[in-house]
Amino acid sequence: MFVDFRFGRRALLFDLGDLTPLSPRQLLRVTHCFVSHTHMDHFAGFDRLLRVCLHRPTPLHLVGPTGFADHVEHKLKAYTLNLLDAQSVDFAIVATEFNGSGFDRVCEFRAREAFRRRDIPAVRLSPGVLVDEGEFRIDGALLDHGIPCLAFAFQEKLRVNVWSEGLRRLGLPVGPWLRAAKSAVRQGAPDESRITIDGDLSMPLGILRQHALRLARGQKIAYVVDIAYHDQNIEKAIALAQGADHLFIEAPFLEMDVDIAAQTRHLTARQAGEIAGRASVARLVTFHFSARYRNREDELRAEAEAAFYAGRNSRERARSN
Ligand SMILES: [Zn+2]
Repeated sequence: MFVDFRFGRRALLFDLGDLTPLSPRQLLRVTHCFVSHTHMDHFAGFDRLLRVCLHRPTPLHLVGPTGFADHVEHKLKAYTLNLLDAQSVDFAIVATEFNGSGFDRVCEFRAREAFRRRDIPAVRLSPGVLVDEGEFRIDGALLDHGIPCLAFAFQEKLRVNVWSEGLRRLGLPVGPWLRAAKSAVRQGAPDESRITIDGDLSMPLGILRQHALRLARGQKIAYVVDIAYHDQNIEKAIALAQGADHLFIEAPFLEMDVDIAAQTRHLTARQAGEIAGRASVARLVTFHFSARYRNREDELRAEAEAAFYAGRNSRERARSN
């Protein structure tokens, strides 16, 4: 899952599977990757990401479950890096291990040191929080897939929308300056603070807030893959995804193949839909379909949606009674 920021020149990646649909330009914007676990289909894209980012000056932050830093180190050790030296662009990879509550270990790998591992101190955040910035927060949960597997939720803090008619009435152009205006609003800057629009042109934030910007609740996007269907997992997944605008959730098997799903510690489409319904998400997006249903993906989607809407309708009935 690729989350792009319209003005921020940055993006987030959830899992490093097949990254070929993403262009180098998109990958260069990635500041953080959240890796659920290191089964190949969730981590093999690391190589492409490394290749694209190797000569960029800004760091790449990776978060994964306990033991993750070793996996990153082994990936880096697989390459002959004799062309990297003290003159190279000092591209840094920071690999953080999350144990479901806080960080176990943080390791840094710098290009100028041929990506030798170096342990660095972990930052302290609230329990379950992976990233906390001015505009958004990322929460994580530790789930069970036979091995530890992380699930994630992106929560935008406050959504500031541009009202283009209001902008037109003020005679102001659309442009990168809107980013500064939005970020000032999110940080609660006073009305009289001036926002630079272009060269000498500036405008008090209060005028912009009143006439051209609209505030709304931030978006929440949850991402849940590769989990066994049992109470503890289900409760944690529901708590993480609660009220999300979008839930991206795996639906690899049909319910008729529930035994295979249980053996491989995956969900069926019906189970995925049920979790989405119980989490009261607005929109369900299923993916990660098993290859055995090639050209039958619609059956998986339909099964998940039927369970999702059935759960939603029965809760609405219960509420209205
Ligand atoms: Zn897996």
